[in-house]
Amino acid sequence: MEHSHPLGIFIICDKELDTRLEGAKQLGITTAQILAPAADNRSLEQTVYLKNKFQNADIKITVVFCGFEGESYADIPTVKATVGLVPKSTRVERLEEAKKISDFASLLQVDAVGMHIGFIPKDETDADYQELVDLTKSFCKYCAHNNQRVHLETGQETAEILYAFLQNVNCDNLAVNFDPANMILYGSGEPLSALELVGDYVKSVHCKDAIWAKKPKVEWGTETPLGEGDVNFRKFLTTLKKINYSGPLTIEREISGTTQLQDIAKGVELLNNLKKEIELS
Ligand code: MG
Repeated sequence: MEHSHPLGIFIICDKELDTRLEGAKQLGITTAQILAPAADNRSLEQTVYLKNKFQNADIKITVVFCGFEGESYADIPTVKATVGLVPKSTRVERLEEAKKISDFASLLQVDAVGMHIGFIPKDETDADYQELVDLTKSFCKYCAHNNQRVHLETGQETAEILYAFLQNVNCDNLAVNFDPANMILYGSGEPLSALELVGDYVKSVHCKDAIWAKKPKVEWGTETPLGEGDVNFRKFLTTLKKINYSGPLTIEREISGTTQLQDIAKGVELLNNLKKEIELS
């Protein structure tokens, strides 16, 4: 397979969208992952508008990410309680919402839907584990009808737990969006060995950096500009080459304002240099 690894960014489609697209274009970025807008901003008219915006900027949307009302990333226990399909009280309604996001992505002609599923439980014998497996299976089947893959974001559990879950769900269109910084931020394990373990499933990545917390798993690590954290992007890209990864390198910088674009610009430079150095074409 030919390797291309176009650069990408993670974009939120808010009122700053034009500025974000213009900034990306100026940096030579050709792909983007987007967070799905809330339901009341996904009318057919708004979807067509969005599609045209990206087409006019020559930026291809590669993954649409699900976000759900009521999610909070305030601290690790709050993420556990509120994020993804894991929290039981919102599970059924969020599955329905995720299906609608799959349809929205289909209208945008995007062939992957991404998701933080939440903290996957460790105990495979627990009834709730099986329920989560079945639910994920049903979402994969739904997305398969839309000719889409489902990309689970890494970080909230160890790579071993994620790998076992992927095998238990056992759907051809189930894949991983590998975010090395999340492994560090959540204290879920060394990112490079994690990448090797789930490598066969990796169909998209977030190029994001972070430093370990003093008390990993208890408190957050700290996100940094690309290249200034503990990921080691030379080794990250070398490992992507080793696992034959051929998708985009999507920069995610979870801050806002002008510093965000400056950091992304530095990230683009770093990734372009490393791509040349290690011959990741
Ligand atoms: Mg991420």
